[in-house]
Amino acid sequence: TTKASVSVAAAGGGGGRRVPAGLRKPPLRIVVTGGAGFVGSHLVDKLLARGDSVIVLDNFFTGRKDNLVHHFGNPRFELIRHDVVEPILLEVDQIYHLACPASPVHYKYNPIKTIKTNVMGTLNMLGLAKRIGARFLLTSTSEVYGDPLEHPQKETYWGHVNPIGVRSCYDEGKRTAETLSMDYHRGAGVEVRIARIFNTYGPRMCLDDGRVVSNFVAQALRKQPMTVYGDGKQTRSFQYVSDLVDGLVALMEGEHIGPFNLGNPGEFTMLELAEVVKETVDPSATIEFRPNTADDPHMRKPDITKAKELLNWEPKISLRQGLPLMVTDFRKRLNEKK
Ligand code: NAD
Ligand code: UDP
Ligand code: UDP
Repeated sequence: TTKASVSVAAAGGGGGRRVPAGLRKPPLRIVVTGGAGFVGSHLVDKLLARGDSVIVLDNFFTGRKDNLVHHFGNPRFELIRHDVVEPILLEVDQIYHLACPASPVHYKYNPIKTIKTNVMGTLNMLGLAKRIGARFLLTSTSEVYGDPLEHPQKETYWGHVNPIGVRSCYDEGKRTAETLSMDYHRGAGVEVRIARIFNTYGPRMCLDDGRVVSNFVAQALRKQPMTVYGDGKQTRSFQYVSDLVDGLVALMEGEHIGPFNLGNPGEFTMLELAEVVKETVDPSATIEFRPNTADDPHMRKPDITKAKELLNWEPKISLRQGLPLMVTDFRKRLNEKK
C-alpha cells in the first residue's frame, strides 16, 4: 500500500469497502487538472484554505507555476507535470477537470491537441473516477450553445454549433466531454457534475492570452488602443473568478448533476466593456476597430435560474466591482516585466 492510499483510507476514500464519493467526509483528497491555470489556481487556493489535500495535474501549456508558488512547501499540496491525454493512476475522492486551453487564441493554436485534450483527457479522468469511485466535475462552457438562437441561454437549449469551423475543436470538444461524462454516469455509475461556464475574468489571467477583458485591460495599461473586433456590438456576460469558484464548489458538493450555467447575467457589448475599462484604468484610453474572427457568437447571456434554485448560488461581484481587482494584478505584473 502506498502512503497516498493510506491517507485516502483515513479520509474514507480507499480500502476494501468503498464509501460512495458523495458520503466521504472532509478533509478530502482532490485532483485539480489544469490547476496551474487562471481558474484552477483560484480553486486550489479555496480547497487548500478549507483543509483539503490537492494534487494539481498540469502540462503548463497556458498555466504557470507562478500561479501556485505560494503553496510550494505546503505538505497538503502536490504539483505534477502531466498531460491528461496520457493515463494516470491516483487515489482521490474528487476530480475537478479543468485542463484545456480556454482562450480562442490558445485553443486554435493547436486544434488537434485541443480536441485530444477534451476527448482523450476527459476519457482518462472519467476512467480514473470510475476505477477509484471518485466524484468528477467537468468544466464545460457556454460555447456549447454556439452562436445561440435562444437568448438568454437556458441549460435546456441544445445549441447552434458549427461542427467543422475553427472553434469546433473547443466547442464540439466540450460537447463530447459532456457526452462522455453522462455516459460514464449512466453506464458506469460515476458521480458526475457538469458546469457550463460563461466568460470569466480576474487576477492571474495570462497578460496576452487574447481574451477580451485581458486584452482591453493590458492595452489600456500599456497606453495602447483597445482592439474592438467587428462592430463591437456583439455581447458577452462577464463573471468575476471568485463567484465562479464558489459555484464550482457548490456544484461539486451538491446532489445535482447539471448541467448548470455558471455566469453573471450582466450583459455588455464589447463597446460598453471598452467604456468600463476606460473609466476604470485610464479616461484617455482609445479604441481601434479590427476585423472579427470566424464564427464569433453574436450574443451570450446565462439564464441562471437553475443554479439559483438548486445550488443556492448566484454571482455577487459586478463588472465594475471586479475589474479594479484585476487591474491591480495586471498593473503589478506589467511593472515587474519592465
Ligand atoms: P487556462 O488556460 O488559464 O487554464 C487551463 C489550464 O489547463 C492551464 O493551466 C493549462 O496549462 C492546462 N492544460 C491545458 N491542456 C492540458 C493538458 N492536455 N494536460 C494538462 N493540463 C493542460 O484557462 P481557464 O480560464 O483557467 O479555464 C479553465 C477551464 O474552464 C477550461 O476547461 C475552460 O474550458 C473552462 N472555461 C473557462 C472559461 C473562462 O472564461 N475562463 C469559460 C468557459 C469555460
Ligand atoms: N484510466 C486512467 N487512470 C485510471 C483508470 C483509467 O488514466 O485509474 C484511463 C485508461 O487508460 C483509459 C481511460 O481512462 O484510457 C478509460 O478507462 P476505462 O476503464 O473506462 O476504459 P478502458 O480502459 O476499459 O477502455
Ligand atoms: N474581442 C474583441 N477584442 C479583443 C478580443 C476579443 O473585441 O481584443 C471580442 C471577440 O470578437 C468576441 C468577444 O470579444 O466577440 C469575446 O471574446 P473572447 O475571446 O474573450 O471570448 P469568447 O467568448 O469569444 O470565447
